[in-house]
Amino acid sequence: MNAGSSSIKTALFDAALTEVLRIEATGIGTAGSIKIGTIAQAADLSDNAAALAAIFAALAGQGIAVSTLHAVAHRVVHGGTKLTQASLITPQVRDAIADCITLAPLHNPHHLAAIDAVRQLAPDLPQCASFDTAFHATIPDVARRYALPDRTDLAGLQRYGFHGTSYAALVRALPEQSGTLPRRLLACHLGNGASLCAILDGRSVATTMGYSPLSGLTMGTRVGEIDAGAVLRLVRQLGLDETETLLHHDAGLLGLSNLSPDMRSLETSDSPAAQFAIDHFCYWAARQAGSMIAAMGGLDAIAFTGGIGENSATIRNTILDKLSWMGNLPSYTVEAQEEIQIAREASVLLTP
Ligand code: ADP
Repeated sequence: MNAGSSSIKTALFDAALTEVLRIEATGIGTAGSIKIGTIAQAADLSDNAAALAAIFAALAGQGIAVSTLHAVAHRVVHGGTKLTQASLITPQVRDAIADCITLAPLHNPHHLAAIDAVRQLAPDLPQCASFDTAFHATIPDVARRYALPDRTDLAGLQRYGFHGTSYAALVRALPEQSGTLPRRLLACHLGNGASLCAILDGRSVATTMGYSPLSGLTMGTRVGEIDAGAVLRLVRQLGLDETETLLHHDAGLLGLSNLSPDMRSLETSDSPAAQFAIDHFCYWAARQAGSMIAAMGGLDAIAFTGGIGENSATIRNTILDKLSWMGNLPSYTVEAQEEIQIAREASVLLTP
């Protein structure tokens, strides 16, 4: 279950972890709709609880009673410094997820609303959480810390990194193609959100996202790397709310192209600004790759995943071309498997 601000996306897996069905509730709080498989219908989804009730009703409509579910496994964006592996959601874990709301104000409140709604509807159903930050718990302090003083009022201001579920799934899936797992692996998750991860011996040692999913690469609508001094000026000039909207929603590929956040649309456009946005995306992916490569002391292979990474040979080849100074390296494309990874982690937690 992936609960966001206006949608709840679910994938149902059987005990063998084969995907059975997808149900998505979208437009929560506005003109809602429920999609069962590929068939969408309008639904009254006033809030998260109503959306969850509609999803459970849709399951029942498919002959799957809620009482036959073994667990609900949630994608949770932020686990902070304490939640560094997938966990059964006990009251303590629920509180720890709530403690991370300051760290992920746009995400964790929606995950919590879904967790609470499931508990209301099915109090005995076990719930688990997988954290986007967890895979990066192995990043060393020197890579993790900002150069800030060690003061209690600044606690938690550090790099966390995200897309961890995707990287964990990639580490698991890649040997099917590569044989053994490459020792120094540059993993590139390129979707609407985008990041790179330096994976040394299967563990994250550096990643381009930091305190929030805003930093690092140029993304669909997020700005990526920007000088904190520029952010200070924006806050003075535009105020906090407008700055937040600009950096999260109006920047990145959308801001540069003035056309679309969607790579497919940019690739088919002949506008010079769209081409510049693509160039910016590839240039910064390659430049930040240099930083990841330095963190691993070299490079043995590159793997791409995510909507852009999996589907755009042009973007992959442009980035690889910019890294050709590293020599001729094996590169792989891996299907993003976040849902099954979350189901797998829950299944491990629930196996006695
Ligand atoms: P999210 O991060 O929201 O999960 P995805 O991983 O689905 O997003 O990635 C969405 C991005 O992938 C969009 O920019 C989309 O244009 C791009 N994409 C999907 N298919 C293609 C394709 N065939 N060619 C180029 N880009 C593609």
